[in-house]
Amino acid sequence: MSGVHLLQVTKAFDEVVAVKDLELTIREGEFFTLLGPSGCGKTTTLRMIAGFYYPTAGKILFDDQEVTFVPPHRRNTGMVFQNYALFPHMTVFENVAFGLEVRKIPNAEIRERVRDALKQVRLDGYGDRRISQLSGGQQQRVALARALVIRPRILLLDEPLSNLDARLRDEMRAEILSIQRSLGITTIYVTHDQVEALSMSNRIAVFHQGVCQQVGTPEEVYNRPCNAFVASFVGETNLWPVVIRDVTENEVMVTCGEYTIRVRQEAEKFPVKAGDDHWFLSIRPEAVRLVSEPGPNTVKAELKLAQFTGTSFHCTARLDQTRTLQALLVNRPGLLRDVREGEKLWFQLPDNQIRLLPAG
Ligand code: ADP
Ligand code: MG
Repeated sequence: MSGVHLLQVTKAFDEVVAVKDLELTIREGEFFTLLGPSGCGKTTTLRMIAGFYYPTAGKILFDDQEVTFVPPHRRNTGMVFQNYALFPHMTVFENVAFGLEVRKIPNAEIRERVRDALKQVRLDGYGDRRISQLSGGQQQRVALARALVIRPRILLLDEPLSNLDARLRDEMRAEILSIQRSLGITTIYVTHDQVEALSMSNRIAVFHQGVCQQVGTPEEVYNRPCNAFVASFVGETNLWPVVIRDVTENEVMVTCGEYTIRVRQEAEKFPVKAGDDHWFLSIRPEAVRLVSEPGPNTVKAELKLAQFTGTSFHCTARLDQTRTLQALLVNRPGLLRDVREGEKLWFQLPDNQIRLLPAG
């Protein structure tokens, strides 16, 4: 098991800078996720850690050992590729054994280790099947067994669940986590799926256009996003451009369309100044409240859609020409009774649940 350090790592492909000045520490035993939209540099980062790409600048360390230009087979990382990269004409056993044969492990030991690895991924008895005879989920398990069988110091997973259907994805999420916990192996997981990242990770790094925006626990990234990009990519949020009117020690007044909204500032302050017009107000749908009359921080919005999901109503309401309000209201008796779509309702934006964020 190892910690991983990336020090000012940059990777350019000709003029495309895929990853820029990346500074990351992944702790020993941690389940660490690289999260971001397609093309933001996740795979490139993972491949540099595995040794399939070498950085254009910067250093990579496993614990205190520099590996920046060490070839992949000498790093002892186990990688699961997005498309699994299995050998389709070979059997399950041959696929999993491959990495051990390359390492010249004796045959008896290979048999034992392949059997153990297949058991770990719940494919005992599948050794003689051909890859082409397996379902997507089973192929995914073979890819995982192949990565684990070499007893890697770091496990690298590139969107391993993206080719599976929703039900199988949930099941495999739990299974990957349970294997990771039981082995205590340092794991770096790549996904564009924020739910996957939030539910599986010890910590998350959010990427955008090759730049790491924020690193934190799932709660930190969701509750205290550092900018508008992170707030909108991780979870849903109401995000509106505002003008700063007045700043005092504990609060900021902002103008948002026709409304003046009070924001309670937190300790880690962003440097807002009266007159600034490059800030965004962000409030999560579940923080918005339905109230019966106007009051502090209330806005009036026309209900466009109220989708009932059993536990809650997901409301979409029109605040003005340019702004839509999303509110997630937990279901309780009488809520929204007699309310029709098209009606104007008052919503309250609690001042301690609003964040002022730069664009990012
Ligand atoms: P992600 O995995 O987040 O979708 P990638 O790391 O695959 O993103 O890609 C980041 C950027 O680098 C993209 O613009 C992509 O086109 C570019 N890129 C990735 N690999 C290569 C390559 N081998 N050659 C040229 N450009 C590449
Ligand atoms: Mg990728």
